[in-house]
Amino acid sequence: MSGHSEALETLRELGYRLTPQRMFILAAVAEGTGHMGVDEVHRRAKEAYPYMDIATIYRTLHLLKKLNVVTEVAIGDRMHYELTDPHGKHHHMVCQSCHGAYNLSPHYLEEFRSTLVSEFGFEPDLEHFAISGTCASCREKADGPGNG
Ligand SMILES: [Zn+2]
Ligand SMILES: [Zn+2]
Repeated sequence: MSGHSEALETLRELGYRLTPQRMFILAAVAEGTGHMGVDEVHRRAKEAYPYMDIATIYRTLHLLKKLNVVTEVAIGDRMHYELTDPHGKHHHMVCQSCHGAYNLSPHYLEEFRSTLVSEFGFEPDLEHFAISGTCASCREKADGPGNG
């Protein structure tokens, strides 16, 4: 969990106290495979710290997001959270069927970005760009035999 301890270090460097709430919430986000809903963060954090209430979760996630320690990802109409990748950003492909989120390396969008700049003089803000669609396993299910 090096990403997790880096995140704690960042908080400390910025002068924020490492309260148990903050540490447990950060640990909960770090434990997941990424893209964790607020409910899921709450459930995991409560296992470690039973007095955790949802307002604290929201407040802490908001702070961690502001400090760029966690990244917020919109999946469907809900926000999900993951540790900010210190090695660079990634974009997301979000499945409309199962609401799974898949990471997409920025280089896939680099050509798209430079095309918009060169052809339209338009500099896109791709920071929160997510591509919605249908993931491989959902497509497989949809195309499967006896399904129609
Ligand atoms: Zn899917
Ligand atoms: Zn992600």
